[in-house]
Amino acid sequence: MSRIEIRNLVKMYGAHKALHGIDISIQPGEFCVLVGPSGCGKSTTLRMVAGLETISGGEIAIGERVVNGLRPKERGIAMVFQNYALYPSKTVYNNMAFSLQLSRMPRDEIDRRVREVAEILELTPLLDRKPGALSGGQRQRVAMGRAIVRDPEVFLFDEPLSNLDAKLRGQMRAEIKRLHQRLENTIIYVTHDQVEAMTLADRIVIMRDGRIEQQGTPDQIFHDP
Ligand code: ADP
Ligand code: ADP
Repeated sequence: MSRIEIRNLVKMYGAHKALHGIDISIQPGEFCVLVGPSGCGKSTTLRMVAGLETISGGEIAIGERVVNGLRPKERGIAMVFQNYALYPSKTVYNNMAFSLQLSRMPRDEIDRRVREVAEILELTPLLDRKPGALSGGQRQRVAMGRAIVRDPEVFLFDEPLSNLDAKLRGQMRAEIKRLHQRLENTIIYVTHDQVEAMTLADRIVIMRDGRIEQQGTPDQIFHDP
C-alpha cells in the first residue's frame, strides 16, 4: 500500500494547458475515483501517474518516492485499460503469466500466482482458452488478472468498464469493489460515470477543464454539493 501525492501538477500539450496545477492526496489503500466530463483531464492525470506522459510542472510521489522522470516499470504500478489489449494468440494463462515471464520470475512462482489470481477472479476453468473464446466480462477479468499477478502497490484503471453493457458493468463494479477490499491496494480509477464513482470511491475528485472542482468522500460530496 502506497500513498500518492500529486502536487501542483501541470500538463501542456503544445500551447494548450490540459492541467492547471492540480493537487490530489490519496491515502494508502484508498480507492480514489477521478470523475468529470470528457476532456477535463482525467486520463492525462492518470497517464502522468503511470509515467506514460511527461510532466510539464509539479510533482508526483508514490510512497516515499518522487516518480517524476522514473519509467513506468520503476513506479510499482499496474494499469488496466478500457480496450483490454489481451494477446489474441495466447491462452488466458499465458496472458496473465506474460509480464512475469519477462521479469524472469521462477516458473513455479509464476504458476502459483497465476492460479491464485485465476481462483479469485473465477477464471480457473478458462485458463486454456484464448481471448477470442471469451465473453466481454471474462476478457475484462483477464485484463485485471494480468495486472493483479504483478502484485502492484498501486492500480490505475482508465474507464475499464465503458465497453461493457449495463448489466455486466454493474457486476464488474461489485467485483472490483470486492477485489479492493481483499487486496487493499491504492487505486486511482478514471470514469465519466457518476454512479460508478459514487459506488466505488473512498475519495472522489471531480474535475472540470483541467482543474479540480471538488474533492472528498462520497458522503461529503453528496451532502455538500
Ligand atoms: P479526459 O480523460 O477527462 O477525457 P484527457 O485527459 O484525455 O481528458 O484530455 C484533457 C485535454 O487534453 C483535452 O482538451 C484533450 O483534448 C487534450 N489532450 C489529451 N491528449 C492530448 C494529446 N496527446 N495531444 C494534445 N492534446 C491532448
Ligand atoms: P501459446 O499458445 O501461447 O504458444 P502454450 O499453450 O503452447 O502457449 O503454452 C506455453 C507455455 O505456457 C507452456 O510452458 C505451458 O506450460 C504454459 N501454460 C499454458 N497454459 C497453461 C495452463 N493452463 N497451466 C499451466 N501452464 C500453462
